[in-house]
Amino acid sequence: MTTIAIVVGAGRGHRFGAGMPKQYRALAGVPVVRHAVQTLAEHPSVDGVIGVVHPDDHDLFENAVAGIEGVTHTDGGAERQDSVRNGLAAAAAFSPTRVLIHDAARPFVNGALIDAVLHPLDKTPGAVPALPVADTLKRGADGRISDTVDRTGLYRVQTPQGFRFEEIKAAHDKAIGQTLTDDAAILEAAGLPVALVPGKERNFKITTQDDLSRAEALIAGGPARTGFGFDVHRFERGDALRLCGVDLPHDFKLAGHSDADVALHALTDALLGAIGQGDIGAHFPPTDDRWKGADSQVFLAEAARLARQAGATISNVDLTIICEAPKVGPHRDVMRARIAEILEIAVTRVNVKATTTERLGFTGRREGIAAQAVATVLFPG
Ligand code: MG
Repeated sequence: MTTIAIVVGAGRGHRFGAGMPKQYRALAGVPVVRHAVQTLAEHPSVDGVIGVVHPDDHDLFENAVAGIEGVTHTDGGAERQDSVRNGLAAAAAFSPTRVLIHDAARPFVNGALIDAVLHPLDKTPGAVPALPVADTLKRGADGRISDTVDRTGLYRVQTPQGFRFEEIKAAHDKAIGQTLTDDAAILEAAGLPVALVPGKERNFKITTQDDLSRAEALIAGGPARTGFGFDVHRFERGDALRLCGVDLPHDFKLAGHSDADVALHALTDALLGAIGQGDIGAHFPPTDDRWKGADSQVFLAEAARLARQAGATISNVDLTIICEAPKVGPHRDVMRARIAEILEIAVTRVNVKATTTERLGFTGRREGIAAQAVATVLFPG
């Protein structure tokens, strides 16, 4: 079963006024569209993501999603419906069984919502996340209420909307010339049933500058969680040792099952701790030959991916390397840059420092290196 996600962001966001289209504005330090593309691309049930972008915005999109695997893009059309049809045409190359169609400007889609939308597709050709209308609804004209609308059975519909590919593709092709407001409506017009699954309030669409501020506030104002990591590796004879993904010339190397990068191990444990997902040994058991001699950057990148999948944004990480030698100072900047790159965060959110133990204890006797790390992540409020 192949599932393709189509992320529709071909509009130019007129309500934002002049400047960059809203889907490329920065949210928590990365473009708005990157949030959703990354969540979808990293979901275990999603096999690929197709961005539908304005023909003038190819560079913007490519830069926005740089480094995320399994993402391609195609040109949008005059209206949203045309854009989705282009996305479906591009998806056909993958022969998918299911598609998710998502707005580029809904950054807070998460793994649970994707699962909820995909689940009913075993039994029904379409499923959409929706929230019951809670406010009283009025119809009005010329600044006056004309009547009160019964809100019983009324829903506000979100994305991602999930469909069986053959049905939605045929329905879209059939709907050319009609103007329908969303993809569910296209399936409805074809006379096919669409299931409602519970949506999420936080999965709102960024339409105005106020929405973007609200999104920033949600990320900044949500609960912060902190995790702690500690690791030790002993020295053995060698000519270089790896710390923070950087090879330092030295008379010793660190012994271990993987590349023994003690600093990245402590950091990986800190990040896993912050999201409540155990420790490095549980995810990458030393008994597994796959991790023999492994580059520990893989472990840290996976912890960062799990954090994003859980809906968390990495606020900052702080690392202390404890040893008499080698000197960390001259390598500090390149270490920070490497960690920032692996975590996909700004370098200002990464701190690397070092201390000795005044020649006391095993680090003082130069038998090995210890590292301590703290990671703080923010969950949307
Ligand atoms: Mg270790």
